Amino acid sequence: MNTTAQQLDTTAIAPAVYATITDAICREAEKALESGAVAAVVGWQAGRRQGTAMPAIVTTPADTDKLIFSPACVNNLALYLSKAKKEIRARGKIAIVVKGCDLKALVGLMGENQLKRADIHVIGVVCPGVRGTSEPLAKKCRECTVHTPEGADVTVGTLPELPHFTPAESEELARLEAMTPAERWSFWKEHFARCIRCYACRQVCPFCYCEQCLCDRNRPQAVETTPRPAGNMAWHIVRAMHLAGRCAGCAECERACPMDIPLNLLNRKMAKELKELYGHEAGFEVKEKGPLAEYRENDDQSFIK
Ligand code: SF4
Ligand code: SF4
Ligand code: SF4
Repeated sequence: MNTTAQQLDTTAIAPAVYATITDAICREAEKALESGAVAAVVGWQAGRRQGTAMPAIVTTPADTDKLIFSPACVNNLALYLSKAKKEIRARGKIAIVVKGCDLKALVGLMGENQLKRADIHVIGVVCPGVRGTSEPLAKKCRECTVHTPEGADVTVGTLPELPHFTPAESEELARLEAMTPAERWSFWKEHFARCIRCYACRQVCPFCYCEQCLCDRNRPQAVETTPRPAGNMAWHIVRAMHLAGRCAGCAECERACPMDIPLNLLNRKMAKELKELYGHEAGFEVKEKGPLAEYRENDDQSFIK
């Protein structure tokens, strides 16, 4: 077993919990590769700097001992099955290690016909939480409802008794909702003005898998491509609408943003609206279409003036 997982006591959760999961992931990965059931395992390995982790693709049983689970395993690996599908999936059946929030992305991708359930072997991790960008525990983990992934082929770990965490995401959303429409507009305008259009948020998102993004096109140009206020606003509206009803809430876009723009707050607001209006929640069942991709004659038309 790799000892890195044991050195990461940065959260309120005992490091031994992560170490036990690390052992179990290594065993499951080794078994799957040795039996020939899968051609590769997508998981996490220790990063180059102490206490960090990074995605890993392991193809031999001997290499499985490099896999870890630690509070630094923040990446949503579903990305490796949507964007890198040609390179990775050409190898054959793939095993993927997922936390509960990552599994929601896999479910969404299956609904969109980007993945077939039979083509993947899912190693689910009972996840106590991971680090945030500047906090010892990511905001999403403070009010997680998917610690134990449902529907994995094998699930490793046991949920320890967790301390009571003060919610952060729902408080942030309540503050946004308490604003007047004008205040909310200024709030987003100020945030989006900082956007440098690096597209890290798009690159890290498992659902932004279009081969050519509309926002990169300049012939004809739909969205101004330079980082100026009008183009930035258009880019963020396109992004939010494109992900509404699909976003798994993994918060990877927000983590990747170098300008500290609260992207997942916008995603969560959209998700809340869709739940209230259409009873829709992304990532819990394989559905071909979300509410914004479907027209029903009895849809509420009252917003059309
Ligand atoms: S949201 Fe839940 S499943 Fe996802 S990393 Fe946090 S604790 Fe783990
Ligand atoms: S929009 Fe952000 S939170 Fe939603 S699935 Fe993509 S990366 Fe995850
Ligand atoms: S990652 Fe941040 S700065 Fe980069 S395009 Fe996305 S919102 Fe803009």
